[in-house]
Amino acid sequence: MTTRDETVQDEARPTADVRRRTAVLGAGEVAWDAAVVGADDLGLGRGDGCFETLRVLGGDPPRLVGLEDHLDRFERSARALDLPAPDRAAWTALAAAVCTELADGQEAALRLLLTRGTPGAGPTGLATLRPVGADIVTQRATGVDVVTLDRGTALDAHAAAPWLLGGAKTLSYAVNTAALREAVRRGAQDVLFTTPAGEVLEGPTATAVWLAGGELRTVPAGATGILAGTTQRAVFAGAQAAGQPTATGTATVADLRAADALWLVSSVRGAVEVRTLDGHALPARPDVTASLRRWIEV
Ligand code: PLP
Repeated sequence: MTTRDETVQDEARPTADVRRRTAVLGAGEVAWDAAVVGADDLGLGRGDGCFETLRVLGGDPPRLVGLEDHLDRFERSARALDLPAPDRAAWTALAAAVCTELADGQEAALRLLLTRGTPGAGPTGLATLRPVGADIVTQRATGVDVVTLDRGTALDAHAAAPWLLGGAKTLSYAVNTAALREAVRRGAQDVLFTTPAGEVLEGPTATAVWLAGGELRTVPAGATGILAGTTQRAVFAGAQAAGQPTATGTATVADLRAADALWLVSSVRGAVEVRTLDGHALPARPDVTASLRRWIEV
């Protein structure tokens, strides 16, 4: 087995000099730390809204990776929340407005946020740009230790319960961040949620992709309530184009412990290798990691 330290290249790009920026739908750019949300905004008080996070690569013009997929999911989330459909052209312009200064070789995280707003005043729309976190840059190079945590719901809990907002990327991420703090308490950096029966769902901010039987595999969205990941989709599209078999299906924690490699994938982190799962060391496949990263960037 190849060890990560020998083979995984640190693909970090300079990010520290990325200027934070904020733009407000209908108003344009404001100071990055301006007070853009009223104290009674329901996004703040209830987590009532939805968001998207994208990776942006600097250049002329900058590349907003997977923008159309993200806008599709933004629309689906807004619909699930009975919020007005986002105006794609207006959001595309808002997103572009905060990305104009990114130079070649720079990368940044772009966030689009839509909240139900202040009662009577209508939704709030924001775009923010910030540097990629140092923890993400490190994890791309080193991989992560992951613990499994029970989410407490059956594999098909969302099939007949749309009010649970499965598949919607809502602002209510307090459970997700609590799970990440629990991971740190357990000496890990990230989480895979499971059902009480030990079936794997997703990470708090990432999709699970693993290699087994020569196939790249992932968990189905839909009844599981997991988010349909734009990064997983890009990985599978690239894999299929390259003749690498893919499959979507449920799996247990035991299946993942026996996998040939496991990754957490999401827009800004890209593909990060899982080096241990509940303390159990997983094989390293830096060659496949490199392919995943190539497919994500296409
Ligand atoms: N699952 C959850 C719960 C997420 O929050 C995210 C992204 O933040 C993902 C999966 C991965 O989605 P994407 O690849 O579109 O970033």
